[in-house]
Amino acid sequence: MISYEQAKNLVMEQAKILGKEEVTLAKALGRVAAEDLKSKIPVPPFRNSAVDGYAVRSEDTVGQEGPVKLELAAEQPAGEYFEKKLRRGQAVKVMTGAPVPAGADSVVPVEEAEQKNGLILIRREFKPLENVRQAGEDVKKGQTIISRGTLLRAPHLGLLAACGVSRLMVFRQPRVVILITGNELCRPGQKLQPGKIYDSNSTILQALLKTSGARLLAIKQVRDNLKALTAAIGSAANRADIIITSGGVSVGDYDLVKEAAIRVGAEQVFWKVAQKPAKPLAFYQLKKGRRPAWIFGLPGNPGAVMISFEEYVRPFIKKVSGRQDFWPREVEAALAEPFRKKRGRLNFVRVRLIQVDGAWQARLLPQQESGIISSLTEADGLALIPAEADFLPEGTKVKVHLVEW
Ligand code: AMP
Ligand code: MG
Repeated sequence: MISYEQAKNLVMEQAKILGKEEVTLAKALGRVAAEDLKSKIPVPPFRNSAVDGYAVRSEDTVGQEGPVKLELAAEQPAGEYFEKKLRRGQAVKVMTGAPVPAGADSVVPVEEAEQKNGLILIRREFKPLENVRQAGEDVKKGQTIISRGTLLRAPHLGLLAACGVSRLMVFRQPRVVILITGNELCRPGQKLQPGKIYDSNSTILQALLKTSGARLLAIKQVRDNLKALTAAIGSAANRADIIITSGGVSVGDYDLVKEAAIRVGAEQVFWKVAQKPAKPLAFYQLKKGRRPAWIFGLPGNPGAVMISFEEYVRPFIKKVSGRQDFWPREVEAALAEPFRKKRGRLNFVRVRLIQVDGAWQARLLPQQESGIISSLTEADGLALIPAEADFLPEGTKVKVHLVEW
């Protein structure tokens, strides 16, 4: 049996970027930039007003007795351009975002001015550049705005839009087929027959995939039958980059995923990891004169599914999607109570993170068995209790991987 570190490395060293494609900005959310992008324009493109007010020459507001009186020369709404130059003693009414006319160097907010008979009354001195946004103060022309490997979220898309970019190159998303095994399963909504349970892994895996950056092609229920399973894996391999199976990788009589994977020509990278839960985790590579594909054989227990997804499948998906930041985010936390376990397997322990005096404390959730779903809803992260440990006293510092589910 291999260690968690070995398994993680074996998975991640297989992760290769799948290719590139061009998308419109509207389709770019959640995708990963495939190249560095420079702005062709400065943002803002011109000097403009940060407030609704009056553009003035700051020197006109200085050193006078009583309120300064300036002549209202023009009005300048946003989106229009004032051709003339502001002369001494003049003000131009400007709205937020409107160009500040040549000659003006400061903007008096509406709240600090009075408009009377074509004159603007100002009661304090204004310094140069007050309420003026400089051209290029956000982005300089030629500045790199997005670098290769960046996950594109709302602010990145906003930045691209501000620079006038409407299409960009992104990495291709991995295509995923999910195969759910288990003759005991029935779908939520159906009547529960004796001996059956509702299938939760279909729902769990679809939900996990949604936030992973992968594209789900299909999800299928397959009976615990070698022929059916071999056919399902074979046909999934024709179109998917990643096949995720649920259940059937353990040592029971109906655990047929391993056999089926071998029959379609997959090569086992590993089976069984010294971890708890998800000990029977299996990972395969498919080559054979075709583009590569991979099979993650996840154990059937929902806890094992979720934890192996976070620890192995999600980082793998991120890496093949071209992301630079593929590992789970990690904090160090002190155990809020002692932890006892058998030596030999690394334990992923569901914890809640609490701040105590500025430091993270990890509270163990009461039920940790891999069949338990309810405590997963409470977890902020997974504490990694090393394989060789058998007792950790309260206060021991442990690594906690923050979950993205
Ligand atoms: P297996 O890995 O197939 O031996 O399944 C291990 C445990 O997980 C058994 O108790 C199964 O009933 C349960 N299980 C398997 N698949 C699912 C599923 N899709 N939803 C909920 N429980 C499942
Ligand atoms: Mg099963």
